[in-house]
Amino acid sequence: MSLSIKTPLIESLPLGRLNGTRIWMKMEAAQPSGSFKIRGIGYACEHHYGQGARRFISSSGGNAGLAVAYAGRKLNIPVIVVVPETTSERARNLLQLEGAQVVVHGEMWSEANQRALSLLTEQDAFLHPFDDPLLWQGHASMIDEVVAEGVNPDAVILSVGGGGLLAGVDEGLRRNGLDNVPIFAVETQGMASFNAALKAGKPVEVPTLTGVATSLGARQVCQQAFDLSKKRTITPVIVSDHEAVDACLSFLDDHHMLIEPACGASLAPLYGNKLNIESYKNVLVIVCGGSTATVNSLISFVG
Ligand SMILES: *Cc1c(COP(=O)(O)O)cnc(C)c1O
Repeated sequence: MSLSIKTPLIESLPLGRLNGTRIWMKMEAAQPSGSFKIRGIGYACEHHYGQGARRFISSSGGNAGLAVAYAGRKLNIPVIVVVPETTSERARNLLQLEGAQVVVHGEMWSEANQRALSLLTEQDAFLHPFDDPLLWQGHASMIDEVVAEGVNPDAVILSVGGGGLLAGVDEGLRRNGLDNVPIFAVETQGMASFNAALKAGKPVEVPTLTGVATSLGARQVCQQAFDLSKKRTITPVIVSDHEAVDACLSFLDDHHMLIEPACGASLAPLYGNKLNIESYKNVLVIVCGGSTATVNSLISFVG
């Protein structure tokens, strides 16, 4: 059994035309929890369930928390998600709709996270949103599916928050013999903790996180994401919030799915034709998805 589904792999003719090559989109927005996160989190939850865990705990009010809630509902396991007061009504409602118990605690995420950790008993599993080898193994399955469909990407574009998606895609590429495929790692200006790590030569905490791409909001990337930059060509790309949101709206017009700015970030350099990728033959972009955006929130951002 797998809690994630096989998602469509679709060629984008508009993006191909714009960039002078073939662009393949892995449509993770079609996952039942709304984002790729269910791949890794579903994999980890099944693992913990097999080891005897009978409650799942998360401190993510975003797509990671939603994936834990979905996994719990499917495995018939109670889920507690501890979120800070700043978490939107919409996010809380989505979590409750999945059947999770939402506990609101503290003004900042760190306080909510501490409370979540304090609840842990031997029966519980805590699900980290990005820094966990089980997650990376689960995320890697998206690359298995691409290769199984006969597409061998020679470049990959993806968004980076804490670096779990990056680590998972790297693992997927490696286990399919695609060790030398370069990755374009995209962040928004206000959430550029991967870029900061590359500049500092190690993962560092960025002082503040700003902007609309909230799912990219990790103050510091995981060590694994940084270490990979020594083993594979990973090109950091930074886009503005406006470019990310514009890309969400263009993608909605072109491919009829609503995605978050965190995902629009990966599409933005393609819509802007900024990557010089004509020399690659099959470029894969991970359409990582996201449930927190609404059409109205995107439109009111662009004004
Ligand atoms: C979590 C998430 C990301 C970033 O993933 P990391 O593993 O934290 O790098 C990007 N986009 C969406 C929609 C997400 O939910």
